[in-house]
Amino acid sequence: MQIVDLRSDTVTKPSERMRKAMAEAVVGDDVYREDPTVNKLQRRACEIFGREAALFVPSGTMSNSCAIKAHTEPGMEVICERHAHIINYEHANMCQFSGVLPRVVDGEDGIMRWEDIETEIRYKTDHTSWTGLICLENSVNTSGGTVYSMERTEEICRNARERKIPTHVDGARIFNAAVALGINVQSLTKEFDSVSFCFSKGLGAPVGSMLVGSKDFIEKARRVRKVLGGGMRQAGSLAAAALIALEESPARLHEDHANARWMAERLTEIPGLQIQAEKVVTNILIFDVAKMDGYAFIGKLAAEGVLANPITRTRVRFVTHCDVDRSQIEKAVESVRKIMA
Ligand SMILES: *Cc1c(COP(=O)(O)O)cnc(C)c1O
Repeated sequence: MQIVDLRSDTVTKPSERMRKAMAEAVVGDDVYREDPTVNKLQRRACEIFGREAALFVPSGTMSNSCAIKAHTEPGMEVICERHAHIINYEHANMCQFSGVLPRVVDGEDGIMRWEDIETEIRYKTDHTSWTGLICLENSVNTSGGTVYSMERTEEICRNARERKIPTHVDGARIFNAAVALGINVQSLTKEFDSVSFCFSKGLGAPVGSMLVGSKDFIEKARRVRKVLGGGMRQAGSLAAAALIALEESPARLHEDHANARWMAERLTEIPGLQIQAEKVVTNILIFDVAKMDGYAFIGKLAAEGVLANPITRTRVRFVTHCDVDRSQIEKAVESVRKIMA
């Protein structure tokens, strides 16, 4: 049976071009800053994001950890949205490792408003913990890949800067967000102090994420990466695949978005499912199986050869990516139709 794997965009396999580049990569010891391919990848990331410095890290989780640790002091608070990856899917890393407290804000479809952030800010008094960082996620993974507009981003970042609070964006899928908005990633992220993005999600590389920011910030983050054991040696083979992902993949992300929207529109026609198709703007769609148990639904789906992840007891997530084409998407919809019938 052919499997249609919609659990995540992390399941993609490296392309032939990536494998060849990995095999042929010129490498060195990156802890000594001597891996030419890692250096090249970091320089390209700086150019694309318009930043002074960049740091190649093994995962998105480590990239966020380096950012949070570098921006804050233990005992501070980090403002983030209820659905944020940093508080739900990183084993409370910010508490364990950075000694900071998440201060949660409710957004609409995962998108926070400045007014709601402002009421949660704790200023530097003798009595309270202080807000050390405001962290946004774009696109918002478990809210269905929703995106922060440029206007919303700017409003939040400018207000934060006036109050001398740094901002970080967990942009694991920032290229998806930029494509959905029809702008480039540099414009979309320019107001943030730091940006994290993943090569291993929509961009289709096997391993790696990147943190970008000022030279001083990245120097700090580099030490944090070493503390976490993330100093890689001949990492050029990984960087070589990431370079191809960075140059080639953004241009095809609209296909994943079209597949996700197409699937969402078909799902609205199936009785017993709840989804607002017009809210699907990137490569993630989340639907409610309402009266059914989400885990039972996923089990039946797997028996049909379609893999998905549950988000809550009744909500299921599909993620489109470069390893699923329209015919596989059609098969997934047919399987859902069959189960619900
Ligand atoms: C996947 C993801 C991460 C973490 O990436 P890993 O490489 O799995 O550690 C962080 N933030 C968001 C929004 C993600 O989707």
